[in-house]
Amino acid sequence: MRETTLIRFLRRLDLWPLKQSGTHFKTSCLLQETRHVNGIDSHPSATISADTFPSWFQCFSCGAKMPLYRAVQLACVHKLGRGWAQVANEMMQAEEQEQPIGIVRRPKVLVDVPVDMTPTLRKLIESGGMEYPDHVVEFFAEKNVTVETARRLLWCFIPAGYVADPMTRDPSGEIIPAIFDSVLFPTLIRNPTNPKKAMCVGAQARPVPKRRIKYITLFPYNAGFYLYGEHLLPTTPGQPLFVVEGPIDMAHLLQLGFPAIALFGLHVTAPRAAKIARNHTGPIFLFLDPDQREQKSVESAMTGLKKKNPDVRLVQWKTDPKYCSENDLREITGTDPPPR
Ligand SMILES: [Zn+2]
Repeated sequence: MRETTLIRFLRRLDLWPLKQSGTHFKTSCLLQETRHVNGIDSHPSATISADTFPSWFQCFSCGAKMPLYRAVQLACVHKLGRGWAQVANEMMQAEEQEQPIGIVRRPKVLVDVPVDMTPTLRKLIESGGMEYPDHVVEFFAEKNVTVETARRLLWCFIPAGYVADPMTRDPSGEIIPAIFDSVLFPTLIRNPTNPKKAMCVGAQARPVPKRRIKYITLFPYNAGFYLYGEHLLPTTPGQPLFVVEGPIDMAHLLQLGFPAIALFGLHVTAPRAAKIARNHTGPIFLFLDPDQREQKSVESAMTGLKKKNPDVRLVQWKTDPKYCSENDLREITGTDPPPR
């Protein structure tokens, strides 16, 4: 878990303060009563790791090595009435919540959909949508997004004229059929009651081939609060995070191993900036399309991010994010893609 969370728990266990050695804290063995001669670890032989998921406990004297919450659980028998069992439980939950979701290791996103969404939309998103026809695969290829990435983000194909059930309704409740062949981008968040599961809170579609209208909102969501791609947060501490305009740029960066979220525009509200600050410690790279960078709204986006995040950098690059190579991103961030 993150160091700040870890210290909070160590305080509750009366183990804090501890000496730091690199990314570890040194401590007496938590299992000394059962595993050491005479039940004593005479000089601190164990370490606890910070900023790993989970935090590990390791004793170099008795050889115990396990997630810290497990060691606290095992030590409970000797700490009766001191709340250790409760802390062990809460630690386990914190580990689950803080663990970054591996985008490669978890190809299938488990998703819940809002009950007030139309049945068609729910079914489409839950199932991951229909097969992508050739022209949609070509559209992805033009934008440097693989079919695999599109599937991972639950992008769904909707054929024009799709009216078997209502896709969406206008303000008076009238059914609007799918007018164009489109790709639907569900906005996913982490399910608050099950962090391993994503939850869909909104859906926007983009006609393919291109039409005058760029995005159609099929299921509105609170754009002042949610971020596209936030179900993949938090990032591992210290990693770079890209903030981009649209889902396609976000998908391309993700594909190259760089965490990214999209604003669907340029709107950085206080809740959005705060959410980033809660889920990310490390540099933020605001990377907009070149034609946007001169706008006044860029300044306010920068200001908004900076209010909550100490290190925000505006990227001045010759292309859109989606046309960047891995090397370009290395040059922009000064780092390799974070380990996955
Ligand atoms: Zn030990």
